Amino acid sequence: MPYVYIKTYGCQMNEYDSEVIAGLLCQKDFSPTSDMDRADLIIVNTCYVREKVKHKVFSFLGELKKLKEQKPHLVLGVGGCLAQKDPQEILKRAPYVDIIWGTLNLQDIPKLVDKVTEGKSPIIKVESEGKLPDDLPLVRNKKFSAYIPVIRGCNNFCTYCNVPYVRGREKSRSLKSIIREVEMAAREGFKEVVLLGQNVNSYGKDLPGHLDFADLLYEVSKVEGISRIRFTTSHPKDLSEKLMLAMANIDEVCEHLHLPLQAGSNKILKLMRRGYTREDYLKLVSQLRSLIPDISLTTDLIVGFPGEGEEDFNQTLDMVKKVKFDGTFTFEYSPIPGTIAAKFDNQIPDSVKGKRLRRLIEIQRRITEEKNEVWIGKTVEVLVEGLSRKDPRELQGRTRHNKIVVFSGKKDLIGELVNVRVNSAGCWALRGEIVSC
Ligand code: SAM
Ligand code: SF4
Repeated sequence: MPYVYIKTYGCQMNEYDSEVIAGLLCQKDFSPTSDMDRADLIIVNTCYVREKVKHKVFSFLGELKKLKEQKPHLVLGVGGCLAQKDPQEILKRAPYVDIIWGTLNLQDIPKLVDKVTEGKSPIIKVESEGKLPDDLPLVRNKKFSAYIPVIRGCNNFCTYCNVPYVRGREKSRSLKSIIREVEMAAREGFKEVVLLGQNVNSYGKDLPGHLDFADLLYEVSKVEGISRIRFTTSHPKDLSEKLMLAMANIDEVCEHLHLPLQAGSNKILKLMRRGYTREDYLKLVSQLRSLIPDISLTTDLIVGFPGEGEEDFNQTLDMVKKVKFDGTFTFEYSPIPGTIAAKFDNQIPDSVKGKRLRRLIEIQRRITEEKNEVWIGKTVEVLVEGLSRKDPRELQGRTRHNKIVVFSGKKDLIGELVNVRVNSAGCWALRGEIVSC
């Protein structure tokens, strides 16, 4: 039986796509392996949200060159966002790659592999129009939480972002197909689903009828056996009162929202074309907290966007202090060729971006610690995800508020919901002990 090794870069949508690739290849009798040396086929599912990720992908492809020299029958496939953006660059820099496919061509991978085994290589299959079929097979990577895409692509064209160019325009998945996948996940024993989209709040706009994302949450919550519903990403400009009410009313929806702010200065938000002001964002936070008082909020922030002066950056720090996010994902602005902001004048030097990022991380670190300490002494429901990343003698899981909790317990609790009393808190995680299973 041939083996396939899959390397995934980037977001949850890419992780899901890799689960589909594994599903498609298993139908062709491939077995997934975590041992690259054993593989007959290596799939590299790429991301291109920042230049750094692109460098990482090409450095990995460099390693694969040596492997291909030692094992000439090895088939190498590269797909995803980087491949969609510039397949020729991949071929030029890694001419030993056999297959290149785009983000809308996942379903073609098995046929492309066949062609290579028949002696045709390299093959490029990158289309910019179309929609992925709804019910593709998949082999899930995680055993406790199931990713379920509800909308693909993005229509927003934020000036820094590559996603609309590499993932195409928004295409919602049908309600029936989503519910089928949620039901299947429930039957397989998954307790949590994570509904995915670049902007889930746009769900349904391109479908007939009036179904929107809030309605979808109600539908998903009716599926027996799913105790937790999460979703990402929610765009602040489209976060409606109806959705906030649905979050508050549906027991299964977790008390956590990832709401990317990106920048705290109205000047920079406008240059980014985000479609909201800092005041709009603060209003959303206060509405959310009035409906769900203990809601945990996380965000994405970019520092060093073109034209960001010290005062603009201070406005970002000010928002971080005002909102008191539970956690932030922070990035130095990376100019991606082809995006609007990459052509802007007054790009910020890397040294300035680095200093700003360090200041931001330090301030957020203290806020996260403070927010985590609030949980000390409380008993929380934890979905056990696996062995602790920091100490594999312990278990690690997540609360409904998306806090990581580390505690002692037997491996057979993985995938189960347990109650843990929190004894201490740090910046990365809470620590505690099981009080009941
Ligand atoms: N759809 C999501 C939204 O509207 O916020 C974001 C998806 S994007 C793949 C994930 C995050 O990467 C963004 O929220 C942004 O903070 C960051 N990002 C995207 N493009 C970037 C760039 N050119 N430089 C730095 N960070 C970037
Ligand atoms: Fe990129 Fe903006 Fe679309 Fe998010 S909403 S994927 S940041 S263009």
